Amino acid sequence: MAVSVQLTHVTKAFDTTIAVNDVSLNIERGEFFFLLGPSGCGKSTFLRIVAGFYKPDTGELRFDDTVVNNVPPHQRNTGMVFQNYALWPHMSVAENIEYGLTLRKLGKSERDEKITRALEMVQMVDYHDRAVNTLSGGQQQRIALARALVIEPSVLLLDEPISNLDAALRQQMRDEIKQIHDRTNITMFYVTHDQVDALSMADRMAIMQDGVVIQVGTPREVYQFPKNAFVASFVGETNFIAGKVQHTSNGSATIETPVGTLHSETIYHALSEGTPVQCSIRPEALIVNNNQNDANHAENTITAKITAVNYLGRIEEYQLVAADVPLKAVHYNPGIETKKPGDTVQLAIAAEAIIPLPD
Ligand code: ATP
Repeated sequence: MAVSVQLTHVTKAFDTTIAVNDVSLNIERGEFFFLLGPSGCGKSTFLRIVAGFYKPDTGELRFDDTVVNNVPPHQRNTGMVFQNYALWPHMSVAENIEYGLTLRKLGKSERDEKITRALEMVQMVDYHDRAVNTLSGGQQQRIALARALVIEPSVLLLDEPISNLDAALRQQMRDEIKQIHDRTNITMFYVTHDQVDALSMADRMAIMQDGVVIQVGTPREVYQFPKNAFVASFVGETNFIAGKVQHTSNGSATIETPVGTLHSETIYHALSEGTPVQCSIRPEALIVNNNQNDANHAENTITAKITAVNYLGRIEEYQLVAADVPLKAVHYNPGIETKKPGDTVQLAIAAEAIIPLPD
């Protein structure tokens, strides 16, 4: 039975390092929740607190309404999947999966039935009797998933589970893990530094920096409305144009920048006149036009020079410079005609796509 996971003002320090700093978070029952952050930000420590390997110094951890701070790991009914698989190499596939069922003292026929169902879930039924050390990395990770799922955990914890796999296999596993979540509706808590994992699979995600949760939201909310410059640059790519607020009214702002005056309609920080800001603008929001006539006329139009073009098949990336500010634009489905380094272009930006963030 899936549970909700609630942390209230949880802190965990090692000597002078505060790995998890006053974190309050609520993971809903059945939710696929991600913790995303750079190396060393405290993700693994957080996961270990939920698993029970670390006890919080302060604060409270609840599974549903029960405080579990003092409940040992083996009594929390959590399943765990690690980056390095952590399978028992001397055992077969079936024996690896069976282990948790034997600990729970289930009878032979029930164990067999559950092993088969878990193997079906990860599409590995034919590998029942194989020695795990004869499996590929991707196959071993599927068995690690099956071993965690077979005990029907209240929460499934995943620590960078697909980081060791190659790019094509990672994409396939993302699809499969998401399908497993959709089918089982287990509460799943996944920690990673890989934004694609989080954006493509999460119901909601928390962005962590230096032990602190900076923002929580759906992938769409976090990508479209990053709370600060760290989130804007860590989740997806972005351009920053430094400027000063000239004027604000009714959720819009006029910002003076070296590339010209920008008008934003996405204001959710209190900004007063004269406040220095960084305007975050995603590369796909810079629309590249040739039309020289628009220069200096249309609102939110920047004159820029192309410095480099990267053709990537489905997309084309332009490196540009405008008034010494480096910018990046992405153009989808590039046709035969393309821009060249040295071309001067107009960049049009929708007012909704300009997000002034506190500097
Ligand atoms: P990575 O993505 O590199 O695994 P992470 O986000 O999981 O990093 P943690 O492993 O939780 O980060 O570490 C957070 C901070 O706590 C780091 O500064 C780390 O050095 C420190 N730390 C973690 N475990 C211990 C420990 N057992 N003793 C001392 N310091 C620790």
